[in-house]
Amino acid sequence: MGSSRRQFLIECLAAAGGLGFLAEKCGPAAGKPGMTKIAAQGTFEPAYLRMEREEKLEALEKELWELFRNCSCCPRRCGVDRLAGKTGFCSSTARLKVHSKGAHFGEERPLVGSRGSGTIFFSNCNLLCCFCQNWEMNHRGDGEFVGHEDLARMMMDLQHMGCHNINLVTPTHVVPHIVKALRIAISMGLRLPLVYNSGGYDSLDVIRKLAGVVDIYLPDFKYQDGNLAAKYSSEASDYPEVAAAVIREMHRQVGILRLNARGVAERGLIIRHLVMPQNIAGTDRFVRWVAEELSPQTYVNIMAQYRPEHRALEYPELSRRITNAEYQQALLWARDAGLTNLD
Ligand code: SF4
Ligand code: SF4
Repeated sequence: MGSSRRQFLIECLAAAGGLGFLAEKCGPAAGKPGMTKIAAQGTFEPAYLRMEREEKLEALEKELWELFRNCSCCPRRCGVDRLAGKTGFCSSTARLKVHSKGAHFGEERPLVGSRGSGTIFFSNCNLLCCFCQNWEMNHRGDGEFVGHEDLARMMMDLQHMGCHNINLVTPTHVVPHIVKALRIAISMGLRLPLVYNSGGYDSLDVIRKLAGVVDIYLPDFKYQDGNLAAKYSSEASDYPEVAAAVIREMHRQVGILRLNARGVAERGLIIRHLVMPQNIAGTDRFVRWVAEELSPQTYVNIMAQYRPEHRALEYPELSRRITNAEYQQALLWARDAGLTNLD
């Protein structure tokens, strides 16, 4: 996920006492006429409830645990037996580690609404970008080991706080845990949409399995060039193809972002794209791909907040923020491509 935005979110968490101000500042996104579909008020039911009613979630959970035996939860396909305590590239065993949770007001407006996005940050990551702003959590693995009931209670706490959704940040390497905890939370009364907030380096097979579980997909699309992905994100040279395939599948499952009458997201796809110096992220190609392969109405967040963090200073081209001209050029490309639903 966009690391700068995540840093901002964590700062918002720390400032939880100031939620009133932030809510006013970020406000609901009711004003996007003609772009995002608006659903009738009060008709929402999260996708996973139907899956549980039809007794499909239990079978799915079993399938997902099997992935841990010979881990292929993500495109790295490390093949380690995480159930036996082995670790692969993401440094995760079959124990679940969470860094923090809270109501966040720095996410996209349809996720924040008036009461915040109920965010849960998982420790570790399968992409390990050199510019990660949360390297303590995602590279070093800071966090606490928790049980599934604990995770379910976190979801319920966020619901009780009035958050509009459960926003699962860096979920790729912990999907079996999420489904297990989700089933417990359903029995406790969870009714919020589930947001899958990943770096875009997901297993297509896993994303297909999540059809009917996730309501809102929130992937990054970071690079268009495999050589750059390999250089800056730990040899992930297949990132562009992988992200394109999984985002196509996400779009197929949930479609264009749909809001309720108060402008809060209920279902759909939001893509994040962090503009980088010297167009390292390939913004011109990214926006054309969205318009041509998905839809010009796809909800896209073109993010300006790149700043050099972690090991970015080892690369001169990554050692500065983007300029205003670079950001304006990115927006121009998006408009020229015909994108109509920019955050
Ligand atoms: S989730 Fe972790 S262990 Fe599994 S394939 Fe990905 S990086 Fe390797
Ligand atoms: S390492 Fe993971 S958390 Fe950090 S920027 Fe990359 S995808 Fe995001």
